[in-house]
Amino acid sequence: MKRWLNLSLEELRSLMEEIGQPPHRANQIWTWVWTKFITDIQRMTDLPKKWRDELQNDLVLLPLRIIDSLEEEESVKLLFETLDGHHIEAVILKQDEATEESDDPKKRLTLCVSSQAGCPLGCVFCATGKLGFARNLEVDEILAQVILAEEFILQHPGLFGLSLTTPRKISNIVFMGMGEPFLNWENVQKAIRTLTHPKGYNLGYRHITISTAGIIEGIREFTQWNQPVRLAVSLHSPFRIGRERLMPIAKTNPLDDLMEALREYQDATGRRITFEYILIAGVNDRREDAEGLRKLLLPFKYLLNIIPYNPVEGIDLETPSQGRVKTFLLFLKEAGIHATLRKSRGRKIAAGCGQLGLLWKNREIRL
Ligand code: SAH
Ligand code: SF4
Repeated sequence: MKRWLNLSLEELRSLMEEIGQPPHRANQIWTWVWTKFITDIQRMTDLPKKWRDELQNDLVLLPLRIIDSLEEEESVKLLFETLDGHHIEAVILKQDEATEESDDPKKRLTLCVSSQAGCPLGCVFCATGKLGFARNLEVDEILAQVILAEEFILQHPGLFGLSLTTPRKISNIVFMGMGEPFLNWENVQKAIRTLTHPKGYNLGYRHITISTAGIIEGIREFTQWNQPVRLAVSLHSPFRIGRERLMPIAKTNPLDDLMEALREYQDATGRRITFEYILIAGVNDRREDAEGLRKLLLPFKYLLNIIPYNPVEGIDLETPSQGRVKTFLLFLKEAGIHATLRKSRGRKIAAGCGQLGLLWKNREIRL
């Protein structure tokens, strides 16, 4: 089976030459895919009919299909199936989750994508972590989430209240769905190259965010790559022990070393880091946590996102009450820490990304 969206434009052009086609066939295909979101080769009418017929049974440009969607006020969650039967998710958010908020109705949408089917890291608060791990996603499986989301938006204009006439409706992509992007870095990086390619999806690097649980080696490679993709780090506790309890990966990627890698990143790039902090009642919402955050974040240019824990069935953790959230924000303020409170978006459909298990629990989800 041919999976041509796993290739860069340059690789596809070379392949065309190898198979005796002019290299510009590659550009024609990319134009259909990335400006019209058309992935059915038969609809690419400027390609020779005979060649289209030949390719028909062997070429798969879109290795996912949408099998379900769930709508909420502020988000739409899409459930996909891979060719080998794994289930993954993406979430269309009506506001930019990872960066600044905006109420501008003309603002485009943020898409939260998955990088793996499941996740091997097993953070104790996370539904994806609970599900376990199947495999890394291929480049074209990452890209297909974007193409299918664009198609979905086009087919449901009323849902998003968009008045945009541009073909691309998504303005930001965040790798905050299922999986740890730095454990599938090669494919994530290649997908980003296509998403930012002027002849591809043509999204600015700054409009892409990678969220990591704190994989130090990945952060080092990311620093060296030196593209202005934004970095978000899931922190969840300012203390080594607290982090290890919540995130087993912190045992092999200890807090001190993580912070050092982040310092090197910031020294090298000058870019701000977003820290994500899920607030869990009685676990990391004390005054000393706020104090710890102050010490930890002092040397950084940062954005701190406080996200009240979104309950997951079968996980024995508690969402803090509104009052407790307010108190914690006050602790932070007193410690001189600037923070932004993120609503757990689309609570009913658990759109805080990465919560697939919670969601479609009554149907068979195969990882
Ligand atoms: N693996 C990466 C990216 C995917 S998880 C990472 O951990 O950063 C994306 C975000 O969803 C992370 O910040 C994670 O902490 C958050 N998340 C997971 N479970 C959650 C829950 N129950 N409530 C709120 N946020 C959650
Ligand atoms: Fe994996 Fe991120 Fe969930 Fe942790 S929070 S289990 S790293 S997806």
